[in-house]
Amino acid sequence: MNEIPYKIYIEEKDMPKAWLNLKAYMKEQHDPFLNPVTLKPCTADDLRPVFCDAVVEQELNCTDKLIEIPKSIREFYYMYRPSPLCRAYFLEKALGTPAHIYYKFEGNNTSGSHKLNSAIAQVYYAKEQGITSLTTETGAGQWGTALSMACAFYGMDLKVYMVKVSSQQKPYRKEVMRTYGADVIPSPSDTTDVGRKILKEFPETGGSLGCAISEAVEVAVSTPNCRYVLGSVLDHVLLHQSVIGLESKVALDKYGVTPDIVIGCCGGGSNFGGLIAPFMAERLEGKSDVRFIGIEPASCPSLTRGKYAYDFCDTGKMTPLARMYTLGSGFMPSPNHAGGLRYHGMSPVISKLYHDGYIEARSVEQSKVFEAATLFARTEGTFPAPESSHAIRAAIDEALKCKESGESKNILFGLTGTGYFDMAAYMAYNDGKMSDYIPTDDELAKGFATLPDIEQNR
Ligand SMILES: *Cc1c(COP(=O)(O)O)cnc(C)c1O
Repeated sequence: MNEIPYKIYIEEKDMPKAWLNLKAYMKEQHDPFLNPVTLKPCTADDLRPVFCDAVVEQELNCTDKLIEIPKSIREFYYMYRPSPLCRAYFLEKALGTPAHIYYKFEGNNTSGSHKLNSAIAQVYYAKEQGITSLTTETGAGQWGTALSMACAFYGMDLKVYMVKVSSQQKPYRKEVMRTYGADVIPSPSDTTDVGRKILKEFPETGGSLGCAISEAVEVAVSTPNCRYVLGSVLDHVLLHQSVIGLESKVALDKYGVTPDIVIGCCGGGSNFGGLIAPFMAERLEGKSDVRFIGIEPASCPSLTRGKYAYDFCDTGKMTPLARMYTLGSGFMPSPNHAGGLRYHGMSPVISKLYHDGYIEARSVEQSKVFEAATLFARTEGTFPAPESSHAIRAAIDEALKCKESGESKNILFGLTGTGYFDMAAYMAYNDGKMSDYIPTDDELAKGFATLPDIEQNR
């Protein structure tokens, strides 16, 4: 076997031509989305006023294992994909571990994260359908930036509701979005009913992702020819992100490498769902016993401390109900928690796989995350996003276990983005001012109290 290079290249011709639909491999599907008014399972008709048709079809598709990537999307992918699949030789050496660590780096495009993979797909389908404008929310800003780029490419108008604290902490993000032509509105705002209501009740609030979603959805359903697009959580977003796992598999297969452990950070679950897709498909087919570990922040622990219940995807309670691991749509993560991964729920697909025992979950405290980020930056060179650094932390911990046991395992993790827009968080860490915050059971109970009181949750 050849020695494995630092970076495993794959050619354009070997890039995936279809996304992998993990649901078609699952023995049991996640519980259906519920219409929030009738509490009946959502039909395509329920979803079409909010999302565009092709995306609704993908959302409800549990049978097609592969779904073709339209040529125009593949051409856009060629501008920044394949993304690098690297062997972390220098990190391994620093740790003195016999483990082999691989990472798939999705931060190599201007938006700085994997979110562009789904943004371009969603805008393409909207354009095909004759939609003229889109709305969305953004927290840390990666999704808004990705969508701005995609909208610029296809000539689509875009309104981005940006969580107010983030827009204050990251003014430069806003300028990137505006440069690509997006209209960026700090949320909560006075441009929507739900925004005005929240502002009246909590005038000082810095906003939340759930609240920004509510504003964006309100505008989408009340504006002609406008749709809402979401950067995570939903099944079609995981579908688009499967390009991450598919490319990783092509690269590793070139050298006969099969991962023993696949690790990803979990906000809404989309990069993790995309990274694990082809490996999980093999496991579900009984062809491998690879382990999957999802990592979340200790300050927003939906998998490790959440309830598996039906919940709204947004604070405004306008979106369909999804059965998922959730802290309650009213859960407000501590403001001292840096960066993304603040969402109250988790992808229904990831939730179901976790519930059925195919996935392990762990939570980590942010000082440990930044410690891992710093070691990674100093050894591997790449400056990681705080979100991605949750996965780095777990990869390091697994590699250190290998050091103790003397086992040489193949560890693959998702390095979802760069940290260039998270300087405030790095500054806090470097100044020794970063504190860890773990919500108490009482605080979580307040979030759980906001779960919908419906029969399915009793
Ligand atoms: C948005 C984001 C995440 C988390 O979102 P998922 O849907 O869980 O993948 C992780 N890393 C980066 C860099 C992000 O921008």
